[in-house]
Amino acid sequence: MTSVVAVEKKKLAKPPLEIHYLGDRVLRQPAKRIAKVDEQIRKLVKQMLQTMYSSDGIGLAAPQVGINKQLIVIDCEPDNPANPPLVLINPKIIRYSSQLCNAEEGCLSVPGVYMEVTRPEGIEVSFKDENGRPHKLPASGLLARAIQHEMDHLNGVMFVDRVENKIALTEELKKKGFSLNAVQAIK
Ligand SMILES: [Zn+2]
Repeated sequence: MTSVVAVEKKKLAKPPLEIHYLGDRVLRQPAKRIAKVDEQIRKLVKQMLQTMYSSDGIGLAAPQVGINKQLIVIDCEPDNPANPPLVLINPKIIRYSSQLCNAEEGCLSVPGVYMEVTRPEGIEVSFKDENGRPHKLPASGLLARAIQHEMDHLNGVMFVDRVENKIALTEELKKKGFSLNAVQAIK
């Protein structure tokens, strides 16, 4: 798979986009569909990838950089130059596995906080890539989890909203300087 958006996987001293943190309202707005995948969107994809690699993340959603669009980037192998990143525009989950699994998650918008979240183990997602071409992708394991986590951001949902152990969550958030008031019930 070749991409029109070529980004070197390295840390920049000054990433092009600023990440917003838990408690910021922009993270709670539902993102809008992208009507046309054009040069402006591809420029945003490039900047999001540069920002993600600079921050040691494996996924980033546009609302996290204050942009209200249905766009996410994912790279589960950020240290492998041969692994191309995944760009998902207007993603939609079309199938969930009935099997659930538990795993620890973190988020660039909640730095330092890692908590267990239960999610479906497998999914199938439909989306457009950075060329505007449609795809359907079955995913499981870490990739399925990353896609679900990032897609939550498009609906204004944060992973901390899904943490069941609220006592441990309260403690973790407090330790890292976040308020439990920033956590919301899932509608
Ligand atoms: Zn996140």
